[in-house]
Parts: sequence; C-alpha cells; structure tokens
Amino acid sequence: MFSTFLWKIFPIPPKRLNFVRASELCMELNNLKETVKQIFTEYLRVNGHRKTSERYAILDAIYSIKGHFNIETLHALLLNEEKFRVSRATLYNTIELLLDAKLVIKHQFGTSSQYERSYKMDTHHHLICTACGKVTEFQNEHLQQDISALPMKRFQMSHYSLYIYGTCAKCQSQKKHRKTITPNKIRKET
Ligand SMILES: [Zn+2]
Ligand SMILES: [Zn+2]
Repeated sequence: MFSTFLWKIFPIPPKRLNFVRASELCMELNNLKETVKQIFTEYLRVNGHRKTSERYAILDAIYSIKGHFNIETLHALLLNEEKFRVSRATLYNTIELLLDAKLVIKHQFGTSSQYERSYKMDTHHHLICTACGKVTEFQNEHLQQDISALPMKRFQMSHYSLYIYGTCAKCQSQKKHRKTITPNKIRKET
C-alpha cells in the first residue's frame, strides 16, 4: 500500500532517479572522453607523433580526475586504478603534448606545478593557502562579465584564471590556537 502511495508522488522511485542521474553522468563522461580522444588523435596525426596506448591511457586517466593533479598523483592513479605502468618520462612527455593540444592546462600554485583537464571546463579561479598549499576553486559571474568587457585591442583571449593567495580557515584557526596555547606553555617551562 505504502509503495503504491509513493509511486503516485514519484512516478520514478527515488532510488531509480539517482540511478538514472548516475548513468547519465557516466554517459556524459564517456562522450567527453571519446571527444577528447578524437581531438588528441587528430593532434597526434597532424604533428606527426605516434599514437601509443600509453598516451591514450594517460589522457583517459586525466579525464577521470576531477580537479587538480600533479605528476605523482597521476602516476599513482595509473598504477593503482588502471594497473598501467608508465615511466615519469612518458608522463611528462605526454603532458607536454596534451598542453600543446589544449586538452590540459598547467597551474603554478606557489612552488608546486599542478595540472587540470581543460576541455569543456568552466572558467574558474583559485584560492591558494600559502601555509598548507590547499587549493579551492570558485566561480564568479561578475568577474566573468567584467573580464569579457575588458578592451583587448588586437588580442584574442583564449582562457584566464585568477590566483588569490592567503590562509585557509584551518590554518587560520591553527595559528590562533598556537597563539593562545604558547603563553601557558612558556609559563610551565619557566
Ligand atoms: Zn591552509
Ligand atoms: Zn582549477
């Protein structure tokens, strides 16, 4: 009885709704991976580079990552999740090709170089904590409007990103905590 009642409210059961959404997302990701594969194939062909299985596996792994990564995290992902062993030299070499093909973008967050997939990625900005290195992404419509309204004479903008450096909430509270416990500690020791 209860289930027929639910059926009236939700023509598709809620669980199935989640399933439909998940499979849609999975299909979107597969389409995206297929498109970037085609772009990469064309890039390799035009520039006379070899189409190796390693290069495609790296591209696939990169488009499975949400957010930023460095060479070490990519190396570990390929090895653990995809069971694919590639040398760091191959990784660097393929990343260079993907940067040139505009399928990946490189960020310099303070002292660390990080990468991110770029095809069909919305413009976003980065808050970088200089204490722990944490990177948080944000989007802002006003900024977007202002930048597209900027006069750029004889310059065709392809993309942009804003880096804001500072201290994250966790590091701020740790700093405060350190300040409040230090006097007691000193008193005890003396
Ligand atoms: Zn921090
Ligand atoms: Zn980002």
